[in-house]
Amino acid sequence: MQRLYKPNRVVELQNKYGFRFTKSLGQNFLIDGNIVRNIADCAGVSENDNIIEVGPGIGTLTEELALRAKKVLAIEIDESLKDLLKESLPYENVKVIFSDVLKVDLKQLVKENFNDEPFKLVANLPYYITTPIISKFIEADLNLESITIMMQKEVAKRLAAEPSTKDYGSLSVFVQFYTDVKYMFTVSKSSFMPRPKIDSAVVNLKIKDDLVKIDQEKFFKIVKACFSKRRKTIANALTSYGFDLDKSQILKALELSNIDPKRRGETLTIDEFVVLTINFPEIGG
Ligand code: SAM
Repeated sequence: MQRLYKPNRVVELQNKYGFRFTKSLGQNFLIDGNIVRNIADCAGVSENDNIIEVGPGIGTLTEELALRAKKVLAIEIDESLKDLLKESLPYENVKVIFSDVLKVDLKQLVKENFNDEPFKLVANLPYYITTPIISKFIEADLNLESITIMMQKEVAKRLAAEPSTKDYGSLSVFVQFYTDVKYMFTVSKSSFMPRPKIDSAVVNLKIKDDLVKIDQEKFFKIVKACFSKRRKTIANALTSYGFDLDKSQILKALELSNIDPKRRGETLTIDEFVVLTINFPEIGG
């Protein structure tokens, strides 16, 4: 049987099941075997791995994962793919559930399907909800080892961005606080059917084992404040944000943290945000 990344196989299945691409669901399917294999390589998928895949589509990436992993749980929103997927994925270690990934109870799914063993998230994401999906998996407090995902190139650059660059923002800090981020490779539009308008990229996020123990809610409030007025100095951005603190309290916290108050928030490293959080006065609701 031909592999699912072959364009003529996609068309054959499409015709057989009368499947139509839904643009609003981000349905751009991979038709490039090298990219499919590279994603699985970057995720380091091997026979002991449990995998969650978001959005299997017709099963192109799922098939590669099924051939390498112990178990693959794929979550697809589009029920019109049900019969097609039954034919395209004849693998015993694959289970497809039809649901909106943003609505599923991930803890329950991981317990039922992986017995709470560690797992990896691997996906060619639906781009209209890239960030909510990443946040959901990171914040759900799961036994998650790594996230290897394809997304819009622009978003990938923001995730991996360094301080003092235009792409560095609260999304970069959020993801880099919880994970070690690696921009793996860029993917051209011609690797998809139908062709998207933008280039894509694959990113690997390795979940950190030992997170720094700080008040995370306070940390992210400070980060948000620092990026809310990118052109102001950090002292002015924090003072005008509405924390109900005097400028002198903010200057004191910056001094204790060894951060020049004239710097801009976007120049701070994750470690500097952490130190600032520790030295910052309590902030109410
Ligand atoms: N994995 C396939 C591939 O690489 O060829 C398809 C990837 S396609 C970019 C994204 C897939 O996510 C589509 O199959 C789409 O129907 C599915 N999808 C979109 N929104 C979803 C959601 N909220 N929950 C689960 N799947 C979703």
